[in-house]
Amino acid sequence: MYMLYLTNCSENDIPKSKQAKEWLYRKIFNEDFNLSFHPLYNDTCDDCDHLMIQEKDCGSVEERDETIKQKVIHLDEANLRYNIKRDDKKLAKERLGKENVLTVDM
Ligand SMILES: [Zn+2]
Repeated sequence: MYMLYLTNCSENDIPKSKQAKEWLYRKIFNEDFNLSFHPLYNDTCDDCDHLMIQEKDCGSVEERDETIKQKVIHLDEANLRYNIKRDDKKLAKERLGKENVLTVDM
């Protein structure tokens, strides 16, 4: 983020003498703003959560392999649906309002 700040200063012709040093930028960011970083969360559905728990609790290698197989099939189907949605959105943009895309999270 500090590098982006420096880039922005450069683009706006702010002299180096007026740019905040990294320690000051960090201090202001940490103390004056209620902002923080966190790892990205993966959005999972109930099926993903169920299969993840099932995989952890498998009693045998065969059961685990079957669970992994179900998980792969489930994720492949999810990717297929995302690709269909992406293609539909692209098509709707190309046809400029003659078609719309409606998605529902169930
Ligand atoms: Zn899922």
